[in-house]
Amino acid sequence: MIPISVVRLSPQAEELAVDVIRSGTIAQGPKVAEFERRFAELVGAEHAVAVNNGTTSLVASLQVLDLQPGDEVVTSPFTFVATLNAILEAGATARFGDISTDDFNLTPESACAAVTDRTKVLMPVHLYGQTADMTGLGALAEERGLRIVEDAAQAHGATFEGRGAGTFGLGSFSFYATKNLTTGEGGMITTNDADLADRLRVLRNQGMRQRYQYEVAGHNYRMTDLQAALVLPQLDSYGDNLTKRRANAARLTELLGDVDGLVLPQQLPGREHVWHQYTVLLPEERAEHRESIIERLRDEHGVGSGVYYPKTVYDYDCYRDREDVVIGDAPVADAVVRRCLSIPVHAYLSSEDVETIADSLRKVLA
Ligand SMILES: *Cc1c(COP(=O)(O)O)cnc(C)c1O
Repeated sequence: MIPISVVRLSPQAEELAVDVIRSGTIAQGPKVAEFERRFAELVGAEHAVAVNNGTTSLVASLQVLDLQPGDEVVTSPFTFVATLNAILEAGATARFGDISTDDFNLTPESACAAVTDRTKVLMPVHLYGQTADMTGLGALAEERGLRIVEDAAQAHGATFEGRGAGTFGLGSFSFYATKNLTTGEGGMITTNDADLADRLRVLRNQGMRQRYQYEVAGHNYRMTDLQAALVLPQLDSYGDNLTKRRANAARLTELLGDVDGLVLPQQLPGREHVWHQYTVLLPEERAEHRESIIERLRDEHGVGSGVYYPKTVYDYDCYRDREDVVIGDAPVADAVVRRCLSIPVHAYLSSEDVETIADSLRKVLA
């Protein structure tokens, strides 16, 4: 079986974890501090603040922007549910633009149409490892006086015109088990704003700057050294990991390029994709048979695949009839959720695996 994702930790990670266990500092300590330093460097941000998961990093990012009830956040309709849940947890109202099939991300035009007088934040999601159009979204934010919070949970190290994902405002990352970099559960906020970084550090630790000196009503959002120990060796080899992902993506594109009606993912000019997922759009007439395509890939060919995501993020009963979830038209996202299918692109594929994946998809679609 070729799985859609593989979690593999190195012997060095084991050693570092044992070091932490023996050190007696098993909560937040020097390993978290080292991870923050090195992650800031990877992203090209001045500050990085580690937290306990990616959803928390989104919530905390919104919390330090002092949103008031009724303030609005404009985001993508095509994302993991954490994006929406974080907006609601922060007490804001969610509005949605639409996406482009070029990069599966929120478009500046649709975001602009969703902006109202109450909008305070643009929250693009850099889905599958490629950034949104940050020139267009940056211009919109500038023009309308909006803050940017990037949901970069899938885009560690991705760049837009040489600038790292997570450096356009507040950047929010996840280190969940299946992400490109992992601590099992974990998150990080990056920013070039020293004041916001300081406030995030205080918020993360019960609103406390010095022992029992509380400045705000905070929370416990801390990451542990045991979690940080797992990811430090991954940072050493992340460049190689990305080289493999990029080579796998390029080969898949070569092998699948002539399949009728199949839309392949592309790396747009000026952007460096980190290939968290390789996501195709099935031929329109095959979309309704996606479940059986997945089953045949698995049962007849031993190839894992996944649907990220099967519905627009608000298309669930629990979000209907909520005043803080304002649903607009998103015809592109509505089509993409029916047709999308992700196939393995991770760094642990052999070149034979990549051929098998492409051959299998071809056969199943033939
Ligand atoms: C994984 C993910 C999150 C949430 O991260 P967790 O660490 O699972 O809380 C948020 N947004 C997107 C787009 C994600 O893929």
